[in-house]
Amino acid sequence: MKFLENHRLSGHASQVVGHTNNGMPSSNPPSSLDGFSGTNPVQSEALAMLPEAGSILCASKPYKLASRESHPEDSIIEVPARCVAEGVVRIGGKEVVMMAGPCTVENEKQLMNSAEAVRKAGAVILRGGAFKPSTSPYGFRGLGEQGLKLLAKASNVLGMAVITEVMTPTDVPLVCEYADILQIGARNMQNYMLLDEVGRTSKPVMLKRGLSATYEEWLLAAEYILLQGNRNVMLCERGIRTFEKWTRNTMDISAIPLLKKLSHLPIISDPSQGTGNRDLVTSMTLASIAAGTDGLLIEVHPNPDEALKDGAQSLTIEQFQNLMPHALAIATVIKRGFITE
Ligand code: PEP
Ligand code: MN
Repeated sequence: MKFLENHRLSGHASQVVGHTNNGMPSSNPPSSLDGFSGTNPVQSEALAMLPEAGSILCASKPYKLASRESHPEDSIIEVPARCVAEGVVRIGGKEVVMMAGPCTVENEKQLMNSAEAVRKAGAVILRGGAFKPSTSPYGFRGLGEQGLKLLAKASNVLGMAVITEVMTPTDVPLVCEYADILQIGARNMQNYMLLDEVGRTSKPVMLKRGLSATYEEWLLAAEYILLQGNRNVMLCERGIRTFEKWTRNTMDISAIPLLKKLSHLPIISDPSQGTGNRDLVTSMTLASIAAGTDGLLIEVHPNPDEALKDGAQSLTIEQFQNLMPHALAIATVIKRGFITE
């Protein structure tokens, strides 16, 4: 199977593509070869001879742009952050990146206390939900724009980058005003309109694995974003639903090395949603680093027992402070280290 990208098509080429994409004649040929997939080698040979076909990549996977074979080097995503000397955090490079903060922005004091503590311990990206998916409609659904404003304020004071969830295509422009990284939640992994919309921006996007998504479904969801032109995509393993009841989800650590093999996209690990239990978060963090994660997303709350959301899985500030030296030690063993300043 062959794959051609980024070429405007002449009438002749679009005719060939129209007949080649999935081997079916198409009444609606694409205007460019970006994302084109052909299954017939003879037709692909014919395409290769067209002047528009400047480069042809072999891609045997349905997720072409996300696949390692289309892009053998690791993708590195740059996120501006004043708190580090270089003013930019690179995700997917040599250093592991810590993203931490409360599950949900509840009020200014709660956010500032968590943000100051995680920054002091070495986190460079502040997490916090303003638009929250909630299993029950009676649950707290976030402060909305007010939450975004509080995140921006904390980011301003501390120089940290901000990651926060966007839930609908119409909220994308608003969330882009305040966030440095757009989080697509597990429940929205296959919300294709949302994926298209974030794909039309140039903001880094962190795509969480769906509650019961296979690696291929997850990579195809990433492909939606990449295909719209946004190449700043990272994946986030956050546990999957299994028959086990002791943990909220089953943290799939093997996703980390396997996804690194299948794809060039950075991978982040979220042991908070992954376990649902703060006593397991440190172990799963260390295991994720050993397995090759490029970053961590960890929930921390000044008083987890009073948290409006996800208190059981939120680390206390003290637990987070204790975790960081261990995380740094494991990263050093695998010759990586953390970016902290
Ligand atoms: C979260 O990060 O707080 C969250 C809601 O995550 P997920 O979409 O993975 O459940
Ligand atoms: Mn949460």
